[in-house]
Amino acid sequence: EEWKDRGAAVGVRREVDADGRVTMKPVKKGVRDFTFGRILGEGSYSTVYLATDRQTLREYAVKVLEKKHIIKEKKIKYVNIEKNTLNRLTEHPGIVRLYYTFQDETSLYYVLDLCTGGELLGVLKKTGTFDVECTRFYGAQILDAIDYMHSRGVIHRDLKPENVLLDEQMHVKITDFGTAKLLRDPRDPRPPEETPGQGGEDDERAASFVGTAEYVSPELLTEKSASTASDIWAFGCIVYQLLAGRPPFKAGTEYLTFQKIVKLEYEFPPGFPSAARDLVERCLVLDPAQRFTVEHIKKHEFFAGHPFGKDLWRMKAPRLKPYVPG
Ligand code: ATP
Repeated sequence: EEWKDRGAAVGVRREVDADGRVTMKPVKKGVRDFTFGRILGEGSYSTVYLATDRQTLREYAVKVLEKKHIIKEKKIKYVNIEKNTLNRLTEHPGIVRLYYTFQDETSLYYVLDLCTGGELLGVLKKTGTFDVECTRFYGAQILDAIDYMHSRGVIHRDLKPENVLLDEQMHVKITDFGTAKLLRDPRDPRPPEETPGQGGEDDERAASFVGTAEYVSPELLTEKSASTASDIWAFGCIVYQLLAGRPPFKAGTEYLTFQKIVKLEYEFPPGFPSAARDLVERCLVLDPAQRFTVEHIKKHEFFAGHPFGKDLWRMKAPRLKPYVPG
């Protein structure tokens, strides 16, 4: 019931009545404005469809959540977190954009950027590993998107190659903000006490957090606290995985994986490139305060000469090639 349709920046319709009076009526998109096509994927609480805007013929991915299921599984809060977060992150090419939200009797709908390239994980599995050029490109795009969301007061908390989607151009679009933490928007001119973001009530979520074990930061396991540095930890895991073909911390059970993480127990495969190794080692630091920041990473030799910002998103994605040591 907290759900409110938003993102309805659809424009206005000019209407002329019988007396020749002109009125401007706001136009809101709804289910009827889209033609639904094939299923792109399914989540635990959602089905994602390819859909076409009947007027513009533009294609989108539409995520459909069944209300009954959401209520039964007590996921209303996360549905709202995802919507509120995406509504805050609308100006970056590296984040899946939410265009419209609406509902009918049975379902909630999110109209999102279509990512035809699928998940980064799927692409990585096809080649096995990425070479240095590909790792630099995808690493840089992920980092640039992280930089943007942190600047808007959003901590993702579940970054992993499944949550990095690829668009038509094989450029990055980060998704899955259902477990994000919203801080106060740093650009909000109102005093902090009027804009608390999500405060303490959210911490119980951090405490019971079951993301993907392999990318969880040590502070989340030991202190049950997450900060922007937690996303940097996940970034280090992803860079390692792109070059090595597997995440740094992986064991038979979740518990054993957690043990490896808090003991910083991982190894580099033979021939792992040395600049990348140094970068990963500075991201995978147990103390979040000692960990590299986005700025450190951008200046690190692994990304020497690589563009960030506008130029990065104008680049053509490199052809995918596996890493060959030596
Ligand atoms: P779970 O909720 O179980 O963690 P999930 O977060 O992957 O799963 P969704 O975000 O609903 O659930 O996504 C379901 C599937 O649809 C995913 O496997 C993803 O590959 C695909 N998908 C999601 N968003 C898009 C998109 N914008 N474009 C193309 N495919 C998408």
